[in-house]
Amino acid sequence: MTTTQATIPFGRPMIGDAERAAVMEVLEGTTLTHGPRVKAFEAAFAAFTGAPDAIATSTCWAALHLAYLALEVGPGDEVIVPAQTHVATAHAVEAVGATPVFCDCDPLTGNMDLATLESLITPRTRAIGLVHYLGLPMDMARVLELARAHALYVVEDCAVALGATVDGTHVGLHGDAGCFSFYPVKHITTGEGGMLITRRPEIAERVRKQRAFGIDKSVLADRRHSGAYDVEAFGLNYRLGETAAAMGVVQLERLPGFLEQRAERFEQLWDGLSEIDELDLIDSRGDDRLRAGHYCLSAVLREGDREALIEALKARGVGSSVYYPRSLPDTTYYGRPGLCPEATRISTRSIALPVGPHVAPPDADRIVGAVKEALADVGA
Ligand SMILES: *Cc1c(COP(=O)(O)O)cnc(C)c1O
Repeated sequence: MTTTQATIPFGRPMIGDAERAAVMEVLEGTTLTHGPRVKAFEAAFAAFTGAPDAIATSTCWAALHLAYLALEVGPGDEVIVPAQTHVATAHAVEAVGATPVFCDCDPLTGNMDLATLESLITPRTRAIGLVHYLGLPMDMARVLELARAHALYVVEDCAVALGATVDGTHVGLHGDAGCFSFYPVKHITTGEGGMLITRRPEIAERVRKQRAFGIDKSVLADRRHSGAYDVEAFGLNYRLGETAAAMGVVQLERLPGFLEQRAERFEQLWDGLSEIDELDLIDSRGDDRLRAGHYCLSAVLREGDREALIEALKARGVGSSVYYPRSLPDTTYYGRPGLCPEATRISTRSIALPVGPHVAPPDADRIVGAVKEALADVGA
């Protein structure tokens, strides 16, 4: 079957005239880095999330790496991370010489299963590197209870959870640090980009320093001639540039509208698909306590060929994705296939449908119709 209708992609960056104008303004000036836009983006992000400190970074990966560096997690330490996540969540742990320990997920929500998490804690565990899966926050009251009982740090990977709150507090502010991504398919984009938020001033100070070569800014500020500065700590270059930050400021202004549309599209897809016997929807709905920042609607196919379903949807002009296509223990690199069976099930059997602001209400109806037809096609 072919379609004459335009394809609805899984994700599409929402770049408009305001973003273009903001970037042009930077290009017409002379300050491309170390400028006012990064500061404005950080201030706006802090205001949106309620964070006392927000530090812009080049990617979410960079923010995660900086978080573990600042917490001095290192060789000999274990960090518990979900099996069903982006590889960055685990690689950031390895980047500081620590060992990621994989936790399987709750089959209903895809978030880490708390009982499993508790069972994985050993005397070597230093931190929990959690992910708010598909925008549904973990129950942070319970995570923090565990963390306190075992003196563990908590790093929140909020790459797909912008806008989510737990008991009224934005994700990323419950643990020691929260890391966000502005990669093109995420809630807002700066092309590449990231942000770290924290309630702990000493973490913020370290992250700021290590984001930029470990150079002491105060020395930098009153240096009399260029080239005179002190290096106080090992650092990296994980800065965000001014053009990206200028985009970020505009995107953040549009975020409340994006979130509203995401919630509406999510509900529309949920209502349309929840009665289908062949599908188990991953429950990312959230509630009053655990408010979701809807990222997509992911459905697990009970039986039948997942790849054929993806192709049948594509033929009907519906783009989809998989979050995430391989559980981390199942990857060649980590090489422990089958370690986390629920994560394996979701990664091999699920399909993620778009709820982004590029999906209009009639598009969501089209997606529901296409899924039903595609399921009939593949005989699932
Ligand atoms: C996208 C994503 C990342 C990586 O973000 P980058 O900005 O590309 O580094 C990390 N963690 C999760 C859970 C993600 O979905």
